[in-house]
Amino acid sequence: MTENQYDTIIVGAGHNGLVAAAYLAKARKKVLVLERRPIVGGTVVTESFGEGFDVDSVWTGGTLRPDIIKDLKLSLPTVTEKPAFISLLSDAENLVIDSDPAKAAESIKHFSEKDAARWPEFVRFMNMAAGILDVAYSTIMPRLPKNFSFDEGYGLFELGLELRLAGRRDMLNFIRALPMTAQELLEENFESEELKAAIASVAVHGQTLGPMEAGTGYTLIHNWLNRGGLALTPSPLPKPGEGQGVRGIGSISQALAETVKAHGGQIRCEAEVTRIQVDKQQAKGVVLASGEAIPAGTVISAVDPKQTFLSLVGPMELPPEFVWKTQSIKMRGSVAKVHLLTNGDHGIPEETIVLAPSIKYLEKAYDAAKYGGISEKPYLEVTTSGNVVSVHFQYAPYKLKNSAWKVEAERVKDLTINTLAEYFPAIQSRITNYQIITPLDLEQTYGLTEGDLNHGQLMLDQFLFMRPIPGWSNHKTPIDGLYLCGSGVHSGGGVSGAAGRNVVRVLGF
Ligand SMILES: Cc1cc2nc3c(=O)[nH]c(=O)nc-3n(C[C@H](O)[C@H](O)[C@H](O)COP(=O)(O)OP(=O)(O)OC[C@H]3O[C@@H](n4cnc5c(N)ncnc54)[C@H](O)[C@@H]3O)c2cc1C
Repeated sequence: MTENQYDTIIVGAGHNGLVAAAYLAKARKKVLVLERRPIVGGTVVTESFGEGFDVDSVWTGGTLRPDIIKDLKLSLPTVTEKPAFISLLSDAENLVIDSDPAKAAESIKHFSEKDAARWPEFVRFMNMAAGILDVAYSTIMPRLPKNFSFDEGYGLFELGLELRLAGRRDMLNFIRALPMTAQELLEENFESEELKAAIASVAVHGQTLGPMEAGTGYTLIHNWLNRGGLALTPSPLPKPGEGQGVRGIGSISQALAETVKAHGGQIRCEAEVTRIQVDKQQAKGVVLASGEAIPAGTVISAVDPKQTFLSLVGPMELPPEFVWKTQSIKMRGSVAKVHLLTNGDHGIPEETIVLAPSIKYLEKAYDAAKYGGISEKPYLEVTTSGNVVSVHFQYAPYKLKNSAWKVEAERVKDLTINTLAEYFPAIQSRITNYQIITPLDLEQTYGLTEGDLNHGQLMLDQFLFMRPIPGWSNHKTPIDGLYLCGSGVHSGGGVSGAAGRNVVRVLGF
């Protein structure tokens, strides 16, 4: 019998797949990463849409867990100080929340003295809560209700201890915050509508949920953890004339890819996997779109669970109940991105800027998506890098009622520009090029089923030991030798790399 050329094949070179590959290659495993796109990184990419139009095309902020950066000795561009988080208000001065709690409190004072006094305690609570979530995300969940062995349950025990160490009051408040609506959580803390809405925008960012939905307490803590607060920390992009070099968020993926290769791992781009080969419940390798078959004893899919099981493995190889549960995973993308190249002087500062003036505004924006429509008054989050203005537009549902994305893309662009121009009038006459990424593009180009950024909604019934589905939260699958490591499993989404790190721990490295 001939030996396989590779011990492990990883399907998808998103940051999680690359983290898993880097750890395995470092452990001297023969690893091959297969990526369908011409570039690595998945949603963590810096792409060029034309001359002087380099952007972090999909995800614009965040970085890997510090332990991963340290273990893999990654050299990443240093990010300068954290930007401010600015909420745009039409009939009042904007609310500027500095990353320094004392400075933020000064600005919040203009809206409410009481809220300003509460702010440092709120930041402390959120940092504490994010810290507990971080521990939860590095804990491999037991396969409840299937196996509750000592080994599998030990992580939960440690997590419980961490919770207990937070102190009784914080422990209770943390547990209570998770199922709450962002609105309720914020109303318990603040009185200023402007402040509550600005924070609530972070709770709904990337979710097809409004701030009045249960569980947005959890998504607020999740996003706070991923951003390290309210503002995004974008990696610096090259400015015109500065030369290229590896910059922007894509530098994270590039650094990971280099580490994989430095340890002897291989990466092939434009290598779409169309089938994961299974024989008698055992993964045997993969087949590419070209027809090439590549054998391996272990296959790790960094692609979302729906694609992995329903397309790549196929329902015939899986237990019917497992197939049914996989079909029921909620994927509901409702984000579009609009990148605007300007000739300068757009007047938008290089901070994290949101249009979320009130909780009702956010909830109404979400109402549109509930009925298959695009928000006429959208929630926007805007970041700029030199001449480029990047806008996260919510809500733009993947499934449109009575229309199609081919028709609606330009409307989203116009809505974005017109809404922005109410606050920054110069923008309209400064645009020289643009790029729209619709939820359909997120699916077709970036491989996100239904344009769902997190490979499955971050909801309480798709959380901890229920992610991706109850009974299969420890990266294993009903197919021996097949594992999951993308954002659709426990500890994803976001750009922490935790899912990629955890799968390798399950494999014993
Ligand atoms: C606009 C936007 C905003 C976001 N905001 C937030 C946020 O605020 N908070 C948060 O936590 N997260 C956010 N995210 C989500 C976060 O970026 C993702 O959870 C994370 O980056 C996913 O990483 P991944 O490595 O798990 O998967 P991906 O980056 O999706 O990588 C999967 C890879 O698999 C490849 N692939 C797919 N199918 C195949 C195949 N058949 N064969 C070979 N390769 C294949 C894809 O091309 C891709 O490269 C956001 C994402 C986007 C797009």
